[in-house]
Amino acid sequence: MPGQVPALTTVPVGRLSLDRFQSILPADRYQTVMDAVQRARELFAGRVVWNVNSTARGGGVAELLVSLLAYTHGAGVNARWEVISATDEFFSLTKRIHNNLHSAPGDGGELGDAERRVYEGSLAPNVEEFVGMVQPQDVVIVHDPQPAGLIPPLKERLDVPVIWRCHVGIDTPSDLSRRAWAFLRPYVEPADAYVFSRRAFVWEGLDDAKIELIAPVIDAFSPKNAELEPEIVAAILEVAGFNQDGAAKVAPTFHRIDGTPDRVERRAEIDEERPLRAPDPMVLQVSRWDRLKDPLGVISGFAEHVAPHTDAHLVYAGPAVDAVADDPEGVEVLREAKALYQGLPSAARERLHLACLPMQSAAENAAIVNALQRRANVVVQKSIAEGFGLTVAEGMWKARPVVASRIGGIQDQIVDRHSGLLLDDPADLAAYGAAVSGLLQDPARAEQIGHAAQERVRDDFLAVRSLLQYLALVQRLLAS
Ligand code: UDP
Repeated sequence: MPGQVPALTTVPVGRLSLDRFQSILPADRYQTVMDAVQRARELFAGRVVWNVNSTARGGGVAELLVSLLAYTHGAGVNARWEVISATDEFFSLTKRIHNNLHSAPGDGGELGDAERRVYEGSLAPNVEEFVGMVQPQDVVIVHDPQPAGLIPPLKERLDVPVIWRCHVGIDTPSDLSRRAWAFLRPYVEPADAYVFSRRAFVWEGLDDAKIELIAPVIDAFSPKNAELEPEIVAAILEVAGFNQDGAAKVAPTFHRIDGTPDRVERRAEIDEERPLRAPDPMVLQVSRWDRLKDPLGVISGFAEHVAPHTDAHLVYAGPAVDAVADDPEGVEVLREAKALYQGLPSAARERLHLACLPMQSAAENAAIVNALQRRANVVVQKSIAEGFGLTVAEGMWKARPVVASRIGGIQDQIVDRHSGLLLDDPADLAAYGAAVSGLLQDPARAEQIGHAAQERVRDDFLAVRSLLQYLALVQRLLAS
């Protein structure tokens, strides 16, 4: 209608060539990818692969989509990305659903008929617009619960293949998660395939024949994961305020995802007695300021069980919290971490560095995380709950030995004592300390585990694996 504000926002999709994988994949694997590119071009000629979600930035799903869609585009497939818009009431409701899916009450509200009216009513303009854009030969991938309400009208009115991709899940469902499933089920059920990250996350009662398991992946060429020479690592950490011994000899440069050059300019805010020095062994956890990442356990366990037996330092790095003003819990958790730090004896404080990383530029933030992970002797992810745990794959790809909790998707990534160390009980601080100290004291073993970790990511957790799985799935759906 003339003058009407569109409900959907089109997110520009970049273009990345899959040729770059030649430098990191074995020749036969690379050939498999190139063969798939050829198949994909033929299969998708004249079709659009639509992706719909609820945000273009912030969070792992958006980050993953930026890379995966750019590679899809680069393979010659017309990948498009639309973001829904909806009322605040809708997003409060979907936040409640998100919390319930994770067994948390959220705002404690209901999921009944009134909530259905809010959900469907708010999505209605998106439905009308989207149904007008999609052609009968296209394929649609709907991401997560927020836009799931688009699925029934797409099936009824256009009968295009629709994939529902659920990026969230928990190991053991509860009444709350079942309640959220029941709310979403009528929207999700008509899809032709349901993609989950791992078997344990699959909802009870869904048609098993439609289930597909596709674990998340990382982009080896993004600013977060791309190779950085050791002198660049040192330069980035110096500019960002970590190393202050003036060792940096080069500029702190890195490349944005589109290949254009950029550099780190902003400093992290760090609570510390003294900055790191080049020879200090370093243990790292990178996480949002969230209780489920257990920052207090990571810090106190390090102070009690690692610092006394080694000369290592702990860097606990999270985002600057003023940048995520919509996360009041983050502010509180950071305050608790700082209070814990302040209350520790100075001998322990001397080994601790609590860092808030600058968030003004996502690429700069990613480059600092990349440099920290490459500088780390041991990477820790001692979470209490975790869907996948991207930081684990990120550390593993950099050939770091990772010590992480035996929970969620972390278990799919680390083969215990081969490509990392799993902690059976994340609350057991002595066991966490022993695992970290053991690796610090046995560099040969740490190197061996780090090497196996990198190979595991190369085999199973790079973007190409996910792309091949989606291609096989769409091929199957179109054939039936
Ligand atoms: N991360 C970041 N800067 C920070 C903290 C976290 O870039 O200051 C990134 C981290 O590298 C990872 C993502 O945020 O890519 C977190 O994903 P993960 O699956 O580990 O946990 P989530 O935050 O989704 O629970």
